[in-house]
Amino acid sequence: MTNKLKYFIGNWKMFGDFTSLKIIETIHFFLIKHKKYQKKNIFVMCIPSTLISFFSIKFKSKFINYGAQNCYHESRYGPYTGSVSASMFKNAGAKYIILGHSENRYEGETNVIIKKKVESALKENLTVIFCIGESLKQKKNGKTIAVLGKQIRDSITRKNNLKKLIIAYEPIWSIGTGKIPKSYELIKIFRFIKREFEVKFKKKSPPVLYGGSVNPDNIKMFSSISEIDGFLIGAASQSHKKFIDIIKNYYK
Ligand code: PEP
Repeated sequence: MTNKLKYFIGNWKMFGDFTSLKIIETIHFFLIKHKKYQKKNIFVMCIPSTLISFFSIKFKSKFINYGAQNCYHESRYGPYTGSVSASMFKNAGAKYIILGHSENRYEGETNVIIKKKVESALKENLTVIFCIGESLKQKKNGKTIAVLGKQIRDSITRKNNLKKLIIAYEPIWSIGTGKIPKSYELIKIFRFIKREFEVKFKKKSPPVLYGGSVNPDNIKMFSSISEIDGFLIGAASQSHKKFIDIIKNYYK
């Protein structure tokens, strides 16, 4: 088992009800039984807003933290019907939050709005999982590096508490499609993200995760790429069996 800290973060998306707590409990008891996974790994489940306080009160796991999946960009209470702020998520029990997910960017979220969200979440001391990624068209046009660089520069600033930041590289064309980048592409992109961060902010790069169609069958391929600090796992995190098999197969 590698000595570097690895993240296994689930993104349930629009999935789950009160009975889904069983998924978290099953993963928790797996981790209790298999002590070797407890150290050097961080486990987070980003669940819908409706479940955060219920799960946080009902089941506190010392291995699995809860995260939110997005927040409103204003932090003060106000006339924002249907919106939830970062401080409200923190109050409900979230420790992490996904921001800039391509499914939200697709709905119209801009780099400027994401910047405000990142600021408000970091002010609340939430750990931000900041998602970046290129579309298939941008990839085909050789624009991947330019797109990723701009997403980082436009939404992250030196003023942010960068110690609470995680970057998730999620190519849009890979999310939910079963397609994943080639190893050499990942190495190039992860090196770029880390270097870009260090050059721009004069600080050590935050952890950089990979996300997009990660499953128990393809996870082993990623384990040889030391630049990858962990995974943001969508559909497969909705099943305790798949999530556990991802952990097991990664370290096989
Ligand atoms: C995601 O939505 O963050 C994601 C990685 O999805 P999937 O694993 O289902 O491709």
